[in-house]
Amino acid sequence: MNEDSKNVPTCIINVENGKRTATQIVETARAAFKSGQTKPVPYRRQQLKNLLRFLKNEEETLCDVLQKDLKKPFQECIAHEVGVLEKDLNDCLKNLKSWSAPERVKKTAANFFDDLYIYNDPYGVVLVVGAWNYPLLLVLAPVVGAIAAGNCVVIKPSEIAPATANALATLLPKYLDSNCYPVYLGGVEETTELLKEKFDYIFYTGSPQVGKIYHQVATKNLTPVTLELGGKSPVYVDSSANLKLAARRIIWGKTQNAGQICIAPDYVLCSKSVQEELIDYIEKALEEFFQGYVKSSKSYGRIISKRHFARLCNLMKNQKIAVGGHTDEEDLLIEPTVLVDVKPEDPIMQEEIFGPILPIVNVNDKEEAIRFINEREKPLALYIFTTKNSVKKAFLENTSSGGVVINDVIMHFIADGLPFGGVGNSGMGSYHGKKTFDTFVHKKSVLCKNFNIIGETLESVKYAPYSKFKTGALRFVLRNNTSFPTKYIPHILMFGLGVAVTIGGYYLNKYLREEE
Ligand code: NAD
Repeated sequence: MNEDSKNVPTCIINVENGKRTATQIVETARAAFKSGQTKPVPYRRQQLKNLLRFLKNEEETLCDVLQKDLKKPFQECIAHEVGVLEKDLNDCLKNLKSWSAPERVKKTAANFFDDLYIYNDPYGVVLVVGAWNYPLLLVLAPVVGAIAAGNCVVIKPSEIAPATANALATLLPKYLDSNCYPVYLGGVEETTELLKEKFDYIFYTGSPQVGKIYHQVATKNLTPVTLELGGKSPVYVDSSANLKLAARRIIWGKTQNAGQICIAPDYVLCSKSVQEELIDYIEKALEEFFQGYVKSSKSYGRIISKRHFARLCNLMKNQKIAVGGHTDEEDLLIEPTVLVDVKPEDPIMQEEIFGPILPIVNVNDKEEAIRFINEREKPLALYIFTTKNSVKKAFLENTSSGGVVINDVIMHFIADGLPFGGVGNSGMGSYHGKKTFDTFVHKKSVLCKNFNIIGETLESVKYAPYSKFKTGALRFVLRNNTSFPTKYIPHILMFGLGVAVTIGGYYLNKYLREEE
């Protein structure tokens, strides 16, 4: 267990209900799911409303614990955690009926007489594991979708943000049925115990290293999994960009939550001449945001723990500082810092920074930047600042990343129409908006036939004995099977009549011959 996880007492599980083992928790949730309790839409709606009430009633406490764990500024508590969850819940409540209803599917010629549906089946008992940097949002946003989809959910907050984790374990059972939606607390040891249980879906947010453990566990039971991971998200700044706005937006993204964001701009790729202007504007933006002194600013967060503070200080060692660089261990404060003359082989370029340090690596042009990005793991986000379509196109067509933002950073996270997730080392699967709901349902395909005699006659070409005519008829149907071809209705009816007459004639003939 790492040093941070000592902050939280071992495995306090739903303190109100007394201690339960991981097995008991999962067994209880499974029994609840089997009883069908979580499936009716009105029940799901009520739970979502309860969750909304939890956020409203407990907002002050939640902001307090976020402040305790991360010194998160009040505006960020509201705008990035509580507020986003309320928006997700309201959106989900508004759409719950249509999202959960069976989806009618476009018919093809081969299914003219059938009914085609997709049923949204909840998986069963799902596990949602959150990370510490947004300790409320990252664990509860998937839970909203999982509840809406009719699952039971084991909720596992990050032990590295112990105040928030404890608040969830203490307060949530007052709003949600803790048999269906238990909160499970603990560090590596307890979570390893929990992972011995079988889940019907696993949704994990955290580092790629630990993500591999979840992937292995999921593979063992063939459990479907979403992995929301991290990595280094690069920024390319082209000379055509508005450098003043680019600087403001990049340094805004780098200072949110003191840079502890999975999609924080990790490093900048630009030419030497762009770098000079960019640094100038970054200094001005920092002066404007924090009046030059972040320590006394109420708009700047702190590093989560001594371990991460030391890790970040180490990454800055032997680097040339162009902006900031001040640190305060007692306060876990690291000033927004820009590094220049950074080499690709420097330690800071070998791992996700996850802090307010911005290295700039010089490249001559977009081709060099693209090569640089493609030689590394696929990023969770890629940011491009340019006004040239040729530059946008070059990056979009020649790089692979979870998402791309052009001329800003991070903002795709709150665009609900855009699924959020990684690719390769930065993750698999995605969520947000309807995609969160869809993540937690199995899309069950249903084809319903009736005993219609015309349909049966038309389809009789599929039965043996096979013939040239039947093969031709089937080939015709398959060739025209892309969607139901309304313009062919008269032809189909004529064809059906032809088939019916042929088959009828055949049997009539046979019957008459037998009579003779
Ligand atoms: P973390 O240490 O909080 O770990 C995440 C979760 O994994 C925790 O709940 C923890 O208990 C559990 N865990 C840790 N080690 C485990 C083990 N050995 N076995 C089982 N469970 C274990 O978070 P972290 O990993 O330090 O988070 C930071 C990382 O998460 C960064 O890489 C960041 O980019 C990424 N992240 C990604 C997203 C996203 O949406 N893609 C969001 C936030 C953070």
